[in-house]
Amino acid sequence: MAKRPAVARTVTSLRRALEPYREAGERIALVPTMGALHRGHLALVREAHRRARRVVVSIFVNPTQFAPHEDFGSYPRRFATDIKALTEAKIDLVWGPSASVMYPEGFVTRLAPEGAALAGLEDKFRPHFFGGVATVVAKLFAQTAPDFALFGQKDYQQLRVITQMAKDLDLPLKVIGVPTVREKDGLALSSRNAYLSASERAVAPALHNVLRSAAARIKKGEPIERVLDVARIEIDLAGFALDYLEARHALTLTPVAARKDGLIRLLVAAKIGKTRLIDNIAV
Ligand code: AMP
Repeated sequence: MAKRPAVARTVTSLRRALEPYREAGERIALVPTMGALHRGHLALVREAHRRARRVVVSIFVNPTQFAPHEDFGSYPRRFATDIKALTEAKIDLVWGPSASVMYPEGFVTRLAPEGAALAGLEDKFRPHFFGGVATVVAKLFAQTAPDFALFGQKDYQQLRVITQMAKDLDLPLKVIGVPTVREKDGLALSSRNAYLSASERAVAPALHNVLRSAAARIKKGEPIERVLDVARIEIDLAGFALDYLEARHALTLTPVAARKDGLIRLLVAAKIGKTRLIDNIAV
């Protein structure tokens, strides 16, 4: 039977657990998560194992990236099940701080990312989000000091923000984006899919299907705005309340009008019932 990973609950015990790896010259990869692990997270773990001898998974539902009206309280927490999955995935160490370890009394510093973090996508609907994410990820990086950190392309704007943050702050690690893992019907895996009712779950893959056909039409040379107008209506008709569907430059996330403007990424966010889903695709 595989060995259960050690679980560190304080910064001191985390650093103590990492010390022998570093002394042995072993490379360390960090996979930050909010738990309720699924095959998407495990794809990050697999990629981490390819890059580094030692893999650390953090599990922390970060309160500062949720607005008061959002789902912090109801976000799925399944620590015991997660540990089982991470045992099978041969993880060395789990970093599971409490909120008071991460944000002890007197904590006042918050990063304010700009650029991709102000692209008018997730930030428009969750203005507090990237400040919270950048701050906690910077702390996770400082606590763990990994050689690699793995993030999903599923949260594409987040991946761009973190990549830029690591560059801007000269952090000595490499941020790696891992392709989105999907259900057979195309729905991107997400811990929040657990919120979907059976009928919502049946409709949910429409989001990916619409993205795919829009990407194909843009690739064929159809005008981007016309393709997006049709796609927005399709998402609406499928039963979603659309937050945004946009075509952006794949690296800067600035608006693009035509294919000649460079690599294009389509990004979407929409609600089905009470559940907000996001997805994206390369053109
Ligand atoms: P979360 O626990 O939702 O904060 O996600 C933790 C990490 O897993 C983030 O880097 C996500 O982008 C990544 N992730 C979540 N869902 C998927 C997926 N379906 N495929 C690949 N990566 C994912």
